[in-house]
Amino acid sequence: MPEIAFVNDVFLPLSEARVSVEDRGFQFGDGVYELVRVYAGAPFHLPEHLERLDQSARALGIPLPYPRDRWTAVIAEAVARSGFADAKVYIQVTRGVAPRDHVPAAGPVTPTVVVTVRAMTPLAPALYTGGAAVVTVADVRWARCNIKTIGLLANVLAKQQARDQGAQEALFVRDGAVLEGATSNVMLVEKRCLVTPPEGPLLLPGVTRRVVLGLAQAAGVAVKERPVREDELYAADEVLLTGTTIEVLPVARVNGRPVGAGAPGPVTTLLMARFREARG
Ligand code: PLP
Repeated sequence: MPEIAFVNDVFLPLSEARVSVEDRGFQFGDGVYELVRVYAGAPFHLPEHLERLDQSARALGIPLPYPRDRWTAVIAEAVARSGFADAKVYIQVTRGVAPRDHVPAAGPVTPTVVVTVRAMTPLAPALYTGGAAVVTVADVRWARCNIKTIGLLANVLAKQQARDQGAQEALFVRDGAVLEGATSNVMLVEKRCLVTPPEGPLLLPGVTRRVVLGLAQAAGVAVKERPVREDELYAADEVLLTGTTIEVLPVARVNGRPVGAGAPGPVTTLLMARFREARG
């Protein structure tokens, strides 16, 4: 089964895909991206991902080169060419190739488009049955974390810090508030109410977050979007993470301290089951 790439209108094997060293994505992290999960050959919530790609690109003034239906067709063809039933589709759009200069060119821009399709390797099943470990880290990112930019150095370092401490995820904390994970959104359960930080400039409006909040409401679980303090993680009945690749992941330990009465708790178990039904 081939890993497929699509680079500026051309499909080719991923191993042969190339972009210029003068690409502004390579030079400055000047670009945006999306990661979409494919289940049984079908992209999951693709319209929401394309909407967020559009919002991220607009926020940076990068013109998206294709209308929505062309993106959908390119992704469908890339998935079909790969032959993978369970896959992850990565979409990246940068401000394009130009002689290195912080100031972007004044004239029209030809963005660089890269789409790749790779087989999906899910997390170890034990993390879903026994819960993941997370650590908290100081949020040293900028103040526009709602834009899904390819500039992910702080997330990379946070993830490395988590791994070095034997954890799977790092949660960003700013001024005492827990915002999100390095590659996930965070939620907690307090007296059977699902609580998560509200959307805003300091966190990514996760597609999975929105799906899970909807599933919770449909299942009769109360949902509250409000700021969460770090110390609430220790007092919570349950803590869980949401994300395109991890889906709904129970958290067993925060900074080495056990969460609630053991993971996964009842609300997380319910949401994991509802998510599995929703994804088909
Ligand atoms: N927050 C950050 C910083 C992320 O990188 C991600 C996913 O990569 C998420 C949250 C979860 O978003 P989604 O559910 O759209 O994958």
